[in-house]
Amino acid sequence: MQAGDRQLIRFGELGRLDAVDQVALHSIGKPSRGSVRDHQPRYVRGSIAASTEREGMGKTLITGGTVVTAADTYKADVLIDGEKVVAIGTDLKAAGAKRIDASRKYLIPGGIDVHTHMELPFGGTRASDDFETGTTAAAFGGTTTIVDFAVQGFGEPLEKARDAWMAKARGKAVVDYGLHMIVRDVSDTVLREMETMVRDGISSFKLFMAYPGVFMVDDGAIFKALVRSAEIGGLICMHAENGGVIDVLVKRALAAKHTQPKWHALTRPPEAEGEATGRALRLAEMAGGVPLYVVHLSAAQALEQVRLFRDRGLPAYAETCPQYLFLSYDSYEEPGFDGAKYVMSPPLRPKWHQDELWKGLQRNDLQVVSTDHCPFCMKEGFKGLPKQKELGKNDFSKIPNGAPGVETRLALLFDGGVAQGRITANRWVELCATTPAKIMGLFPRKGTIAVGSDADIVLWDPKATQTLSAKTHHMRVDYSPYEGRKVKGKATTVLSRGEVIVADGTFLGKKGRGKFLKRGGPLLQT
Ligand SMILES: [Zn+2]
Repeated sequence: MQAGDRQLIRFGELGRLDAVDQVALHSIGKPSRGSVRDHQPRYVRGSIAASTEREGMGKTLITGGTVVTAADTYKADVLIDGEKVVAIGTDLKAAGAKRIDASRKYLIPGGIDVHTHMELPFGGTRASDDFETGTTAAAFGGTTTIVDFAVQGFGEPLEKARDAWMAKARGKAVVDYGLHMIVRDVSDTVLREMETMVRDGISSFKLFMAYPGVFMVDDGAIFKALVRSAEIGGLICMHAENGGVIDVLVKRALAAKHTQPKWHALTRPPEAEGEATGRALRLAEMAGGVPLYVVHLSAAQALEQVRLFRDRGLPAYAETCPQYLFLSYDSYEEPGFDGAKYVMSPPLRPKWHQDELWKGLQRNDLQVVSTDHCPFCMKEGFKGLPKQKELGKNDFSKIPNGAPGVETRLALLFDGGVAQGRITANRWVELCATTPAKIMGLFPRKGTIAVGSDADIVLWDPKATQTLSAKTHHMRVDYSPYEGRKVKGKATTVLSRGEVIVADGTFLGKKGRGKFLKRGGPLLQT
């Protein structure tokens, strides 16, 4: 152990000890404040002994890989004890440790997808992935944490929605999960309950400016929720589309007998997203410069608004999703009913928006890539599932909104971003893991590879290629929006809290092993 311990010192993890110490991570002993020479070796030895007893799990040494975090790229071994990373260094030794060879692989923090909808009830059906199938698929793609959305019933306490979603996830999730709360009526009672939610680790609330009569809340309600979020240290996430205008356009299209899937996009213009995004940000400004996180930003008009407010120094944040970076309106023109595969809100935009979104990612006007994973099958009967997309065969407004994506995010972003030279591997990690962890109150437990962090680590083969297809993916849905697309990069081995849950295409995890994550308030520094 001695040699390895000294390597750790050389590696300079000391700079991180204070940050890790602050969050009181469990499996490491508190380092003393003495000199480096004094305390460092004790720190490592002590931590390993202590956590082995506690976790009842052994040590794992990942050797020869290239660690890629949001900040750095370097060759190092990573030593895991129980559920945590306990040492990073060169030529680490750990007697009795299980070894994983990572030569020619990147070691990245497990992906964090902060926008998923497992089993979401929508338009008379529910999303086809549950917490078991959805998180299994996530794991295959290198994502080891999701944050899903619980949905408040009208007039019902937030606790009820929380309990319902906890019940859906418990015993099923194979990776760790957190929850946001979708708030549908902003009553005084609900404003009070928001504080309980934050205390219980559900620290973000999603509001809708679209879907009148279903999810939409008015400006007054948004304003109240924004003010409240600042008081209790929570974060408002906004679905920003002008629902009133969209409703009129949908009714007119249907009156004119326009029923095909493409009318979903034609009745939800990018201007409706731009307007709502600007309005939401202005409301946040009026609430006192409250942070606002815009979900699934798809249009240049919306990005323009986020940029405007950020340039003025306001805490405006936004995520986009792979579908808006890689797919376009053209998909709605596919023959027959195939356009329904891409019916999601906001809809896919004309291709030129993609370049704008990439610029947004490059310049940090967009900080996160999530998926809005919400799959519905094209054909009735797939794995026993009921009629889903076909519900809207004769009326585009009845097609369940959503598409699969939780498994393919890292690969799409690596291929289209890193392999094609648009972003660095570090920025890829930042967009897909580190910043999501920070904004959603999971950092530094999740979102990076550091001493004291959870050992959620993906061995990523940057040279491997894979072909995305419904025939081979693990999501419980009968199509892939990216069918036949060849991408560079693949997760080969996936660890979640120190446990190998995927290795070379085989699932080794157990249903129900995923834990609920009590999230803190947002860490907003980007
Ligand atoms: Zn969503």
